[in-house]
Amino acid sequence: MKIFCVGRNYSKHAKELGNTVPSQPVIFCKPDTALIRNNEPFYHPDFSSDIQHEIELVIRINKMGKKIQPKFARNYYNEIGIGIDFTARDLQNELKEKKLPWELAKAFDGSAPISEFTTLTEIDLNQITFSLNKNGKQVQQGCSDNMIFSPDTIVSFVSQYFTLKVGDLIFTGTPSGVGKVEIGDVLEGFMNGKKLLTCEIK
Ligand code: ZN
Repeated sequence: MKIFCVGRNYSKHAKELGNTVPSQPVIFCKPDTALIRNNEPFYHPDFSSDIQHEIELVIRINKMGKKIQPKFARNYYNEIGIGIDFTARDLQNELKEKKLPWELAKAFDGSAPISEFTTLTEIDLNQITFSLNKNGKQVQQGCSDNMIFSPDTIVSFVSQYFTLKVGDLIFTGTPSGVGKVEIGDVLEGFMNGKKLLTCEIK
């Protein structure tokens, strides 16, 4: 399976990192070794002193497809959950400066904790709220309405380059409020007010 992520999909977040709002989706990948399931802890790596949380809505592909037109994209995913796109911001900034790829900063082991998934027929995709608490305090909050590129647009765009397969995941970008995590922190992710994800930093 493949994990795709969209960078800068909420304008406030793009601005908080000093980036311009993109004209087409910024896409990067993580390997399956990035996944953390079942609320297992995240072990802070020693190659970074600025690991940051990015809470995101994650959609799951349920049908194989390539070169999907936007108007048909909705037929290719039917489940949604939340995930954290852990980012070694210090490394990412160095790589960006050197105009190098981001993998070392984004795709390392454990960089993608995910929740259980919910069928999309049960909820309205346009009105999904989600948030992240750090040690009991809300630090990030977003709504699917505020995405620059909709899930349909993202699925269509990604499928022009990569064949999508059942089980592939797409992290749809983070709202503003990203911040550093420390060993001992507890992160909790919510979707439509319901806690779906817990991740302790060890
Ligand atoms: Zn992200």
